[in-house]
Amino acid sequence: MGLHRSRRKLMFTVSLVAVFTAALVALAAQSEALQDWAMLKLFAAVTVDPNASSGPDSLSAAVCGSRSPIPDPQRAEACVLVSAGDRLFVVDVGDGSVARLRQWAIPFNRIEGVFITHLHSDHISDLADLHLATWVLQDRPGKLPVYGPAGIEKITAGFEDAYEIDYGLRNAHHGDALAPLATAGFDAHAIADSAPVLLDEDGLKVTAFLVQHAPVVPAYGYRFDYKGRSLVISGDTTKSAELIEQSRNVDVLFHEAQSNEMLALMRTASLANGQTKRAKLFEDITTYHSTPEEAAEVANEAGVGHLVYYHLTPPPRTWLMEKRLLRNAVRVRPKDWTLAEDGTQVTLPVGSADIILGSR
Ligand SMILES: [Zn+2]
Ligand SMILES: [Zn+2]
Repeated sequence: MGLHRSRRKLMFTVSLVAVFTAALVALAAQSEALQDWAMLKLFAAVTVDPNASSGPDSLSAAVCGSRSPIPDPQRAEACVLVSAGDRLFVVDVGDGSVARLRQWAIPFNRIEGVFITHLHSDHISDLADLHLATWVLQDRPGKLPVYGPAGIEKITAGFEDAYEIDYGLRNAHHGDALAPLATAGFDAHAIADSAPVLLDEDGLKVTAFLVQHAPVVPAYGYRFDYKGRSLVISGDTTKSAELIEQSRNVDVLFHEAQSNEMLALMRTASLANGQTKRAKLFEDITTYHSTPEEAAEVANEAGVGHLVYYHLTPPPRTWLMEKRLLRNAVRVRPKDWTLAEDGTQVTLPVGSADIILGSR
């Protein structure tokens, strides 16, 4: 009896303290001085240090956009952020991907270039935002280098044309120290098939190679080699012999994945709703992508260490959709794979064979 009474007394005291604390916090939140103090702490915590060390030497890649054009509020369109030591590169910049990079508070001043796999809109639509993020305040040494298929110059010239007024307005407001007109705009490099090595210096080599995304010709994948570690990004492609060759024994392959079986179900549902044009679109796109099981075959045939499925069609919104998307692929490659979300990151430390999976 006495024990019960003392327990009740303890519960009462705990509840009283909890209510009192909540009341105190609510009251404190009304204080303008405390609000400002909290904001200052918050803003200081999210301010990026452009000179911060990026940690132990490694090659790493983070998925800044994991979906195809089919919408998903949790995912941006195609984008992979590649780090080689302190150097940063972005492969494709689809819709929402730069917001994702801003959310991660990356040091935009370190982005040295953009590699575009092909000229479909879901791979280039955020170029203007990436330009802004790497220009104002960033002391970019020149215009933003962009590598891509023939036609990339037309696209960057188009962005420059569309945003010329913006460049002028920001320069007029902030001045040359913050927004120099001399470095506004893009430095486009159209890839020649005769010169696929785009960069080879300080232990880092970036190679472009042709993939199969007809009628989108040319379309490229990219391979990064850094101090004995390696990764390949497929871009959009059907099952490609060249991709297998380029991915031979790499540590990580980021490969697109499209479930034609799920598209067939989406087509059936569209027809049932009388949406014949939508049904045709779902049928059209089956011809120029890879199924998850084909991506798994490519990874197996090339002997890659780890496979990351990205550029997902349809982007899975639920556990059940994930399971359906990879139904056949898990039979082809039961282990050493990851289904990307925005933020999925793979780190390959230099001087080691480790493949570290994580999330931003
Ligand atoms: Zn695409
Ligand atoms: Zn495409």
